[in-house]
Amino acid sequence: MEKSQLIADIEHANLPTLIPVLYQLTGDGKWLADRYRPTRSRGMDDNDSGGFSPEVAAEIKAAAVDAVLAHEAGTAAAVPAPSGADLLELLEIANGESVPPEYVELAAEDMGFAAPPARTAPPNDIDIIIIGAGISGMLAVIQLREAGFDRIVVLEKNDDVGGSWFENRYPGAGVDTPSYLYSYSFAARDWGSHFAKRDEVEQYLREVADDYDVRSAIRFNTEVVSADYDEAAARWTVRTHDGAELSAAVLIPATGVLNRPKVPPIPGLDSFDGPVFHTAAWPAGLDVSGKRVAVIGTGASAMQVVPAIAEQVEHLVVFQRSPQWITPNDVYFSAVDAAVHRLMARIPFYASWYRARLSWNFNDRVHASLQIDPEWPHIERSVNAVNDGHRRVFTRYIESELADRPDLIEKVLPDYPPFGKRMLLDNGWYAALKRPNVDLVTEAVSQVTSSTVVGADGTSADVDVVVLATGFHTNRYLYPMRITGRGGRTLAETWGAENAHAYLGITTPGFPNMFMLCGPGTGLGHGGSFITVAECQVRYVVDLLVTMAQRNVKAVDVVPEVEAEYTRRHDDAHARMLWTHPGMTNWYRNEAGRVVATMPWRIVDYWRMTRSADLAEYRCEPAAASPATAAISS
Ligand code: NAP
Repeated sequence: MEKSQLIADIEHANLPTLIPVLYQLTGDGKWLADRYRPTRSRGMDDNDSGGFSPEVAAEIKAAAVDAVLAHEAGTAAAVPAPSGADLLELLEIANGESVPPEYVELAAEDMGFAAPPARTAPPNDIDIIIIGAGISGMLAVIQLREAGFDRIVVLEKNDDVGGSWFENRYPGAGVDTPSYLYSYSFAARDWGSHFAKRDEVEQYLREVADDYDVRSAIRFNTEVVSADYDEAAARWTVRTHDGAELSAAVLIPATGVLNRPKVPPIPGLDSFDGPVFHTAAWPAGLDVSGKRVAVIGTGASAMQVVPAIAEQVEHLVVFQRSPQWITPNDVYFSAVDAAVHRLMARIPFYASWYRARLSWNFNDRVHASLQIDPEWPHIERSVNAVNDGHRRVFTRYIESELADRPDLIEKVLPDYPPFGKRMLLDNGWYAALKRPNVDLVTEAVSQVTSSTVVGADGTSADVDVVVLATGFHTNRYLYPMRITGRGGRTLAETWGAENAHAYLGITTPGFPNMFMLCGPGTGLGHGGSFITVAECQVRYVVDLLVTMAQRNVKAVDVVPEVEAEYTRRHDDAHARMLWTHPGMTNWYRNEAGRVVATMPWRIVDYWRMTRSADLAEYRCEPAAASPATAAISS
């Protein structure tokens, strides 16, 4: 490969990423010196320049070119698999700040420096039904097969893979976690933009489905309505919308938490003459050009819809029940240069270090600042000094974006602590609100008539289209399916209204061999890639099933005390975090104020908790000497 190409491409490199790469390639301790320590990222920015002087930047790039060419000429990497204290030091250098030591093992596995423990089941006839072919259901198929389970059926209500990414087609829909992090650890892609839009995410998932032959396990257009556990047979019977019945030993609901749209009970909604729909059900082919549109809600979905349609519509009215904290990101709208794709392909360790930096910056970095400081005197505006600093930074951002519109500043400035609701990345929100054809009504909606949307203060807007950006039934896990476990008891009865809880968010006593992915208490409120969490969950379930197969166990039911203790720790941890702070309303909590949907742990804590399964935490039912061989039948 050409040197000139490398020299040109390296101009597009993320310099903090190059430092550990240089150390690994050359083994030269000079790259660990302060001179080559980048500044830490501001907020969630990429920090490509690393804050280096032009002179040091030029030195780093030239050294990287030399090191890569030497490697291509046959010089082996001096430190191919850093571990322990060495890896920690490199993580700290790459990020320009201290990183807790507990990240080392996670990073080593994610970066391929350490192999995860091998998990291979002996020959077995464990049959498995997975509900849902979104990110976590697909992952389960891939990794269960790799571990030696091949009797898998996935029941998917849609006609293709992708789950949320299949369903959410509203204008502007896309990720707000960087795509190089929001990808499976084993399936890299040359992403077209740093924050991919839904079409590219869907394309990625389709390609993964093809590459891993996931579709052969899936029955599309098949919606599950119920699942019943037969204690005598130790099997689940699953019924689908068309009356079909299937049976399997193991049930893995992978239906996600942002799955069932929440349509608010606004009086008169049904009487509206024009299109009225939820963001997750955006009508195919709908053209809003020249139309008068109302958007109800100001969460992550509205954040993307509003800027995406503001230019086309004649008039847009946004109904804001609560304002949002919003942060900018320097590469949010940026395409990824082809040079970066070449760097990732050509420079050893570059892609891994680039992802490791994103992982630190987006996954857990902010977690410590979300803990309530009981001594903090300004609880009405923040939960601790760092959180108060975040408030100042985000407030300044609002003030700078709306410097010419003090009327809007007053309307959009939240009165609750930053991160109290899910943080949003600025999709052009403030710029859209400033447009002459956009109005912001700071009221909930009280009524809809045949042609108007009416705010609680009586403000009335004549509109042609109503968009409900009102979120999802995030606290009604597995809704609306009816799941019945031991003794004919349903999950709804076991949990009570919107109060789901499960050991590791995965399994609930009384529901043997049922392992949820994306279950209660495992959403990410503090940020990060849910795919990392899904990989933890699938790894745990695989380990559990492999252990069952090895020990000839046909059913496991988590010990109630184990689940209760976990839930107590979960709730105690949440009680110390800002989402339970007075005045917080968000989709993480139920009506009673308990946080149901999101985890209080750092991802690294959850990674450790789910590393391996311990059968001592389960009541185990041994299989007969010759295990039953019933096929998944329909
Ligand atoms: P959401 O965050 O739950 O927001 C719903 C919005 O609707 C809130 O502003 C809420 O106001 C408002 N609302 C609900 N009921 C209402 C009513 N009866 N009257 C007036 N307003 C009402 O839902 P979302 O925006 O769909 O996002 C859900 C989650 O999906 C996100 O937090 C994120 O995890 C994910 N998501 C991610 C992306 C992305 O990656 N870019 C994009 C979309 C969604 P209150 O705040 O007052 O309750």
